[in-house]
Amino acid sequence: MNSQSISALKKILSTPQKISLVTHRNPDGDAIGSSLAMQHYLKSKGHTVQTVLPNEAPAFLQWLPGAETTLKFDKQNQQSKKAILESNILFILDFNALHRVGETMQAVLESYTGTFVMIDHHQQPEPLSEFVYSDTSICATCQMVYHFIDTLGDLNSIDAAIASCLYAGIMTDTGSFRFSSTTALTHRVVADLIAKGADNAMIHDRVFNTNTTSRLELMGIALTNMVVLQESHTAYMTLSVTELENCNYQKGDTEGLVNYGLSLKGIYMSAIFIEDSDQNIVKISFRSKGRFSVNQFSRNHFQGGGHDNAAGGRSTSSLKTTVERFVSLLPTYKEAIAESYES
Ligand code: 5GP
Ligand code: MN
Repeated sequence: MNSQSISALKKILSTPQKISLVTHRNPDGDAIGSSLAMQHYLKSKGHTVQTVLPNEAPAFLQWLPGAETTLKFDKQNQQSKKAILESNILFILDFNALHRVGETMQAVLESYTGTFVMIDHHQQPEPLSEFVYSDTSICATCQMVYHFIDTLGDLNSIDAAIASCLYAGIMTDTGSFRFSSTTALTHRVVADLIAKGADNAMIHDRVFNTNTTSRLELMGIALTNMVVLQESHTAYMTLSVTELENCNYQKGDTEGLVNYGLSLKGIYMSAIFIEDSDQNIVKISFRSKGRFSVNQFSRNHFQGGGHDNAAGGRSTSSLKTTVERFVSLLPTYKEAIAESYES
C-alpha cells in the first residue's frame, strides 16, 4: 500500500465504521489469527466488526479469543450475507483471490460494493482495490497485521488477546519459526507479542498437543501409505475417504502431515492427496525445500497456488488417477527439484 492509500485508509478508520472481516475456506491458524486480531483491534477503536468464516475452524484453534463470535457462512448463511453486504469496509485476510472462500460466498463478495482492504502474503494478488497490502516475503498474514497496526501508530493497542491471535498465526504459518520465511524481524515481532501478553508455551500446547488417538492412527496410515521416489527427490502420501472415516476424521486431523515427507534425507518435494467427499475432489497439499516453487507447479497442473514452498491444489479425477498424473509429471521436474536444493 503506498503512503497515499495509507493516509486515506487512516482517515476512513478515524471515524466509526461498519466492518466485516473475511478469510479463506478451511481457515488455518494464520487465517483465524489475523481475522480475530483485526476484529479485537478494530473494535477497540470503536468500529462495529463482524468476522465471517466460510466454514468452521478446526477444534485446536477454537480457544482463540473471540473465536466464538465468528459467523460461519456455510451454517449461518443469511446472517453472514447480511453482515458482509451491510458493512462499508470489508477486510480480506490471508487470501488474495475471491474463489478461495468457496463458490456461494464468492458470489456474495463479488456483489459487494463497499471498500475492500486486503492484507495477504500469497503470490499473484487479485487487484481488488487501492487498499491492498500484499507482501509475499512475509511469513504470515499475522505478521502483516502487526505491521499494519504499527503503521497506524497503534502498537500500544495490542493487548494480550490480539497478541495471542497474532502469535498463533505466525507460529502455525512458520512451522513454529523453522521455515525459511522466518526472519529476524519475525522474531522481533514475536518477542514483542510475548511481551504484550502472548503466552507462548500455552499457545503451543493448545495448538499442537491436542491429538486424539484416532488422529495418531490416521497419521500412522498416511505414513504407511507414503511412497518415496528417491530419484525425483519426492515423497507423497494418500488418504482415501474410507481411511479417513475409519479413523473418525475430524477437521484439522490432516494438518501438517505433508511435512513428514520433507523430513526424509534427500527429499525436497512432498505431497499429500486427500479424498474430500464433501466437495467431491481430491485436495492436495504440496511442500518443497529450496527454490523449487510448488506454487507454480500447482498452478500449472492442479488448479492451485499458495507460496513457493507451501501450496495447495485440487483435482476432480479419482485419487488413483490424480496420483498417477502427479507421478507422471515428475520426470520432467526431477532435475529442477534436485538443483533447487543441491546447488
Ligand atoms: P495447505 O496445503 O496447507 O492447504 O495450503 C498451503 C498454502 O497454499 C496455504 O497458504 C494456502 O492458503 C494455499 N492454498 C491451498 N490451496 C490453495 C488453492 O487451491 N489455491 C491457492 N491459490 N492457494 C491455495
Ligand atoms: Mn497465511
